[in-house]
Amino acid sequence: MTQKYCIVIHGGAGTILRSTMTTELQLQYENGLQQAIDAGYSILAAGGSAVDAIEAAVSSLEDFPLFNAGKGSVFNHIGLHEMDAAIMDGKTLEAGAVCGIAHAKNPVQVARAVMEHSGHVMLAGLGAEEFAKAQGMKMEDDAYFYTAQRYQQWQDALKEGVVQLDHTEKDKTDKKFGTVGAVALDMNGNLAAATSTGGLTNKKFGRIGDSPVIGAGTYANNNTCAISCTGVGELFIRSVVAYDISCLVDYKGLSLKEACNIVVHDKLVKIGGEGGLIALDKDGNIEMPFNSEGMYRACKTSDGRNEVLIYK
Ligand code: ASP
Repeated sequence: MTQKYCIVIHGGAGTILRSTMTTELQLQYENGLQQAIDAGYSILAAGGSAVDAIEAAVSSLEDFPLFNAGKGSVFNHIGLHEMDAAIMDGKTLEAGAVCGIAHAKNPVQVARAVMEHSGHVMLAGLGAEEFAKAQGMKMEDDAYFYTAQRYQQWQDALKEGVVQLDHTEKDKTDKKFGTVGAVALDMNGNLAAATSTGGLTNKKFGRIGDSPVIGAGTYANNNTCAISCTGVGELFIRSVVAYDISCLVDYKGLSLKEACNIVVHDKLVKIGGEGGLIALDKDGNIEMPFNSEGMYRACKTSDGRNEVLIYK
């Protein structure tokens, strides 16, 4: 019997309400998710690796302007785009990450190059950009990352002097955490995880979130699970969310569902950590928990499950 293979993706979590969503916009989000999950799944179905599949899925989400990663990245305090991304191979426990990188079209691809060609795990800022160029990665000028919606969010944040989560609405109660991620299990039983984000609108001082931090926003281990997070990065770093779930599965023998419940609906909630994550274990069990109103998410499995979801 062929081993079950599957892929799960997210496009951020937060206060995503039916009442504030138009049919047209919802369709655009759903199309973006479907396109990305198909890109990753077709690689798995052809016998490709989990690492290749998540890189393809996250690259597709990075190219899609509505998600806060790659092309759709938010503006920082000085009107530039500084992106964070990470990738981890559950088979070898190798990992690569970039943080505060500008101009890379697909930061997840740079993270993979860091994993495979740098001899390091994490590269930051100008150094990361220099490495990306030296590796021949696709680079873009600032204009490529301009979107009218993000520009307006930045202007609003500047006016109010706040650092905002993606799409934070004026009344401050409508929050959407914009980040993208993917986890996959391939035919050979290998797990992998990747996350990519533009971070927070109007962020300053080189602020970095959880996404590129291995063990916080991203983690994969063939013996346990693969995780990619979205939410208030500071709280996810302090909770070491992704590795905590892996440890609960590993050391305590909990099911993926039990481990996710404890971390997302209890531990994180207790310290005010709003958001969610996607998780996949070595048997192909899928969890997509979030403690916010909604999370853009999708999954596709070799036994015929194909879901694209937004709300609870
Ligand atoms: N976790 C990301 C960060 O803190 C933000 C997000 O998920 O929207 O940078």
